[in-house]
Amino acid sequence: MQSSSAEIPESSGSVPSDYSCVLCGAGPAGMGFLFCAFKSGKLAEVARNGLLIIDKRVSLGAGKLGDYVNVTGNSVAKTFLACLEHERFDDVFGDIREFNALHRKMAADPDAAPLLSEVGQLLTLAAERLIAHLVEHFDVDVLRGHEIEAIRRCKDGRFEIVHHDTRKQAERRLVISDTVVMNLGGSQRVEEVDELCRTLDIPPPGNGVMIRTSDDLLRLTKTQLVGTFAPVFAPPTAGLTNRISIIGGSHSAFTMIERLATDLGGAGLDEISVIHRSPIRLFFETEHDARAWGYAVDPVTDICPVTQRVNRSSGLRYRAFEVACSVMSHGRVAGTKPRIELIDAASGKAAHARAAACLANSCAVIHGAGYGPNMSALVDHRGATIPLQFSQGGIEVDKFGRPLDIHGDAIRGLFTFGLGAGFRPDAEIGSEVAFTGRIYGVWIFHHDIGARILAGVLKALARNAVAREAEMISTADDDRHETHRSGRGQTRPRR
Ligand SMILES: Cc1cc2nc3c(=O)[nH]c(=O)nc-3n(C[C@H](O)[C@H](O)[C@H](O)COP(=O)(O)OP(=O)(O)OC[C@H]3O[C@@H](n4cnc5c(N)ncnc54)[C@H](O)[C@@H]3O)c2cc1C
Repeated sequence: MQSSSAEIPESSGSVPSDYSCVLCGAGPAGMGFLFCAFKSGKLAEVARNGLLIIDKRVSLGAGKLGDYVNVTGNSVAKTFLACLEHERFDDVFGDIREFNALHRKMAADPDAAPLLSEVGQLLTLAAERLIAHLVEHFDVDVLRGHEIEAIRRCKDGRFEIVHHDTRKQAERRLVISDTVVMNLGGSQRVEEVDELCRTLDIPPPGNGVMIRTSDDLLRLTKTQLVGTFAPVFAPPTAGLTNRISIIGGSHSAFTMIERLATDLGGAGLDEISVIHRSPIRLFFETEHDARAWGYAVDPVTDICPVTQRVNRSSGLRYRAFEVACSVMSHGRVAGTKPRIELIDAASGKAAHARAAACLANSCAVIHGAGYGPNMSALVDHRGATIPLQFSQGGIEVDKFGRPLDIHGDAIRGLFTFGLGAGFRPDAEIGSEVAFTGRIYGVWIFHHDIGARILAGVLKALARNAVAREAEMISTADDDRHETHRSGRGQTRPRR
């Protein structure tokens, strides 16, 4: 999260490395930008004075998406595969398409939603192959296992990025860059549950109630999940109901319902309450499909004008759709034991009271209500935090993905668009009017959004190049003057 303190370390004393672009975070968002730059033929321009990739992980490309256990995607296989298709990729990882077993499996069932762990493996493979190609053919460096601590905006508009090797925390290092593409993922914090309860106007969980986030739990295996909750379940002989409440009603919440019902049904879980504050929406490819299914569609608020899809951004899809339908019609995930109750806490007094009662009688509460940004500290040249605009879904950005400060001014040269930041729907990107969140997704990172960020980065670099040229002319004039007087020459150190 953004730090409010201004304790940003100074340079280690060595001459800092100097780049035209630093990619902070090489998950699906960061890599979407890089894939886009490469396939559009603009990579050399982005890396004109060097491109550096920094990520705290050792294996790059999948981010958290590959960590979720037994979670089905909310995109179908062909959507992910489309990110790997372009003639410029043929020499880089064309063989993956022919020989890789996972690729073949997804291509054989293009309309099925794959497991995110498998998507993660494929994204990692393609990303690592692209990175190896870029290192060989362009001015590209990679720092794996390096955690970014802070980003300082210098007086000249460039950025200092402070980072350390995760194995040597004390050894801070610094690089300088004209532009920064920063996507460090999203964060859910247990401390946010009290705030979520305040928003719903229900009392927060009492002391001693276990509180967890869906993001952490979805990365646990069944054994780990049982090990986490079994200690808070009362034994069957106690005659008590073991209830877990989930706050949230989106894809993550329904994915969580399925994991809990499947993995904890035999471990003592009796009930799951899902407390949300807007109607559960379902996704359909067309209005006709929705109506044929018996779903009431409001053509004004529910249909994306770009794709004509119903609830394109807010609707539950694929496995989450099936889970929601099973819960709505039978009060259970098919084939599992725990009872499940959906409570729209904003739908009236009785529902509101029921939500409060369920929460008060839960042995555990799960935050499954969206993500905030996982940003490093962002400070100005004096070390003071640059306050950014935050609202529903994360940081506010302009049309190039540049974060807005509290005065509404874009931070030039800095770009962010992944989980916890992101674009709002607009006429080009599309989405249903009813959706007020942010647009995330692997496909869009590799296409529309990646292209916007690329345009912004190129614009910033072109502007810097003009400014630097003017500066060099003026320095050269000064030097001519100086050399004439002292006979000295001048060289500018770089990497
Ligand atoms: C449960 C869930 C399911 C989803 N399913 C889908 C889906 O099916 N299809 C789809 O298109 N989208 C899906 N999304 C949305 C989105 O595509 C993913 O969330 C995606 O992982 C976001 O990518 P990201 O790069 O923004 O963040 P992340 O995946 O979190 O990647 C961030 C990267 O930054 C690095 N990093 C973080 N902090 C630091 C630091 N301080 N220093 C250095 N490196 C750092 C991390 O190591 C990581 O590599 C899903 C999201 C969630 C939460």
